[in-house]
Amino acid sequence: MTQAETYIIKCPGCGAANRIPADKMGLTARCGKCHQEMKTDEPGAQPEQSFKMRCTECGAKNKIPAGKVNAGARCGKCKAVLNTDELFAPQPIMVTEANFDDKVLKSPLPVLVFAWAPW
Ligand SMILES: [Zn+2]
Ligand SMILES: [Zn+2]
Repeated sequence: MTQAETYIIKCPGCGAANRIPADKMGLTARCGKCHQEMKTDEPGAQPEQSFKMRCTECGAKNKIPAGKVNAGARCGKCKAVLNTDELFAPQPIMVTEANFDDKVLKSPLPVLVFAWAPW
């Protein structure tokens, strides 16, 4: 079982996004920017978004915080630069029966398959 380590709390004063460790949630925290007190028991608190990506070199699974995906993320095991551009493919890929194997089953990333129908 995995726990979310950090939550993002938006400062009500300056709007800065603050990272709050999960064990500090529910306590009073201060904004890192304007030092205003923030409530950490807001129901809207979101676990920090992170991406899981498999290293194309060694196959190790890497967890990349959303804020670091553009910072030249490297594999924690073999230090290969991770091709995080793939996380931000500008368009969702249309998957059909013809390319399902290629795009989904062989993808280095976990794939979210979104099935859509008019109803
Ligand atoms: Zn603030
Ligand atoms: Zn690696």
